[in-house]
Amino acid sequence: MINGYTRTCGVFGNPVEHTMSPAIHNFLAEQTGQNLAYVPFHVETGQLEAAVKGAYALNLLGVNVTVPYKSDVMPFLKEIDSLAAQIGAVNTLVRAEGGFKGYNTDMPGLYRAMCADKVVIEGERVLILGAGGVARAVAMLLEKKKASEIILLNRTVEKAQAIADEVNEIAGERLARALSIAEFDTLPVNERYLAIQATNVGMYPKVDACVIEDKEFFKRVHTGYDLIFNPLETSFMQRVQAQGGRAFNGLKMLLYQGIIAYELWTGCTVSEELAERTYGNMLAAMKAQHGNQE
Ligand code: NAP
Repeated sequence: MINGYTRTCGVFGNPVEHTMSPAIHNFLAEQTGQNLAYVPFHVETGQLEAAVKGAYALNLLGVNVTVPYKSDVMPFLKEIDSLAAQIGAVNTLVRAEGGFKGYNTDMPGLYRAMCADKVVIEGERVLILGAGGVARAVAMLLEKKKASEIILLNRTVEKAQAIADEVNEIAGERLARALSIAEFDTLPVNERYLAIQATNVGMYPKVDACVIEDKEFFKRVHTGYDLIFNPLETSFMQRVQAQGGRAFNGLKMLLYQGIIAYELWTGCTVSEELAERTYGNMLAAMKAQHGNQE
């Protein structure tokens, strides 16, 4: 019950109306007995600094930050965690003395999701489709978790090359390289890869789209991990499965980035059993939202 002791958390975004985060945090608060309410905040262009200051002044416990503000929010924070600084994006603000501290829980969230799905990174040859903000962070995660090879395929090959250069600099070896999407056919035919789909292509409502359509590509994929979660089964996932591979969507990444933020805000530890029930609650919320979209 909301009363005088209720703490508030929320998410800044624009648009923010389709967010699944309330279905994560309000469920966790109820299940862990925390007097906490989580709400969406639509932040207009140019109002981000005022929103961060206002959230601090209003004693908010924590804030998530989503598109398009994950990098823009960084100058308005008191402190930035080292992983978030390396990735160059903050999605979680935690209340600290004199201001918020910024964290990135997207990448640890993806890692926890992959562990839950039993997808191994260490020693794997990995393809990343895309070279945007998330693809860059994924490339850094793969370097840290000891993938044996990282190949970024992107429409704009220069962007993929820039990320590969950065990863190689961190790794101190030529671990990553870049290709245009059309150049996938230069990959050896007898090799099987883990492929992480990190473009926007295939997101609702353009659900039939896929960033790469040639089935020769999918023959080279043993596991496809699409970071998109709406729809729950993307065209990319269907193509992976049609060639005999395993396929996953991005809903567990969303779940675990939320769980890690919740743990940072409240000091609670969320068990795997509770994580599973929270996932069920998200699925139900997604179905209800879909009903409204159609
Ligand atoms: P971004 O920075 O805007 O990058 C978009 C990428 O998609 C770029 O590589 C872009 O290629 C490529 N792309 C866009 N339209 C394309 C098209 N028509 N054909 C070929 N390539 C195209 O986006 P982001 O922030 O990295 O997000 C990427 C994805 O991650 C989104 O789908 C988002 O939903 C997902 N995501 C999931 C979670 C989760 O919790 N599951 C969290 C965050 C993000 P160019 O470089 O050539 O433009």
